[in-house]
Amino acid sequence: MSNTSKHLSFFESVNRNFDRAAAHTSIPKGLLEQIKGCNAVYEMTFPVKIGNTYQVIEAFRVQHSHHRLPTKGGIRFSHMVNRDEVMALAALMSYKCALVDVPFGGAKGGVKISPRNYTEQQLELITRRYTTELIRKNFIGPGLDVPAPDYGTGSREMAWILDTYQTFKHGEIDAAACVTGKPESQNGIKGRTEATGRGVYYGIRQFLSYADDAKALGLEPGIAGKTMVIQGLGNVGSYSGSISQVEGDAIIVGVSEMEGTIVNEKGINIDKLLKFRKDKGTILGFPGTKTLPDRKDWVAINCDILVPAALENQITTENAKKVKAKIIAEAANGPVTSEAADILATKGVVRLPDMYRNAGGVTVSYFEWLKNLSHMRFGRMEKRFQENSLSNLLSTVERLTGQNVSSREKDVLTHGADEIDLVRSGLEDTMVNAYDEIRETLKRKKNIEDLRSAAFVVALNKISGDYVRLGIFP
Ligand code: GLU
Repeated sequence: MSNTSKHLSFFESVNRNFDRAAAHTSIPKGLLEQIKGCNAVYEMTFPVKIGNTYQVIEAFRVQHSHHRLPTKGGIRFSHMVNRDEVMALAALMSYKCALVDVPFGGAKGGVKISPRNYTEQQLELITRRYTTELIRKNFIGPGLDVPAPDYGTGSREMAWILDTYQTFKHGEIDAAACVTGKPESQNGIKGRTEATGRGVYYGIRQFLSYADDAKALGLEPGIAGKTMVIQGLGNVGSYSGSISQVEGDAIIVGVSEMEGTIVNEKGINIDKLLKFRKDKGTILGFPGTKTLPDRKDWVAINCDILVPAALENQITTENAKKVKAKIIAEAANGPVTSEAADILATKGVVRLPDMYRNAGGVTVSYFEWLKNLSHMRFGRMEKRFQENSLSNLLSTVERLTGQNVSSREKDVLTHGADEIDLVRSGLEDTMVNAYDEIRETLKRKKNIEDLRSAAFVVALNKISGDYVRLGIFP
């Protein structure tokens, strides 16, 4: 199913990477075929009344792998949604979850609409109707399939989904766990909105923490002072940029959006840029920046790290040659086509693969799902206990030494973990461990091509292990 005879489709591109990595495993052929394909594809149409007319909306939900339940993955609202894309994204979710030890199968949903063409009320109508279709076919539920935000959707849509689900499943005690990425006030979790971007930051930081790997690219270790370009200032791009800047001291030298691409070698303050864009409706004209004549030249900006954080297929055989960055951190799903990847490899560009790089979102979704199932916020039981213990310890040290710490120091030293502290620490630990596992696999198996193949190998071994445990492939 190619888009053109020349280029691979998105799903074909994912499967090409799969095949390449599978050659480095000893997983039997039949099991590989089982993992590779999509277990269930639900393609639907439904009518909604928009003004005085009826519109037939096309939508999808794909469950890629049932080796673990529930299946998990976002819902995308975009006019570009198609069957192949949703299948590819669902497959990436399976590999991503396995890689970061999040115990879900992969899924993805898509509604073929341009959200900007609809009012808030119309979007609510479409979201509720889509949810109803999922309920009717058992394609949603805390133990079945759990959606989340993706391109074109956010916490608002997740709240509509939950409300619709609860209306139909009145009294189901775990209903809140049927969807993640909900508003904090409606059974959401602190830190979910920033999670994917924060994960991107932890991932880049971990990659650059290895002095030898940085040196091989002609870079000093550490993220501080590294130059970065962000493509796409949506949720993922804006948090990746802002956290890398505020916590990592990276310098954002370029930002690209639909309206154009701006650059400033001295650095662009992302938080201020976001405010500017909110007021003016554009990033163009942000003080201190220059606008590039061709928007598409974001790909050719001189920088250490390029962060494509918008959609798939952004770096292709047409523009891959222009890349000047040493590292591409794939914050979006599938931003580099598999053929473009070959070109980048010959140029020595290191790609931090999407399957790992953007796993922060689903990791915190997993924490939210657990919170919903436990019916209690994280930290509720232990925060006060921790604070009392630390305070007693500190008082004892003060008494024994005859010295006193300032009240500010005391607050820091005796702080017990809140939900946000635990979420961030769980996310950091997940991203650090997953990267180290990929890196070790790459180092151990000498002939593995790159980090992406190594990430695939880690994921495939875990999924096949699950199938074997289930007794399906003894
Ligand atoms: N849409 C996000 C992703 O692609 C999050 C999925 C989720 O939280 O289930 O990873």
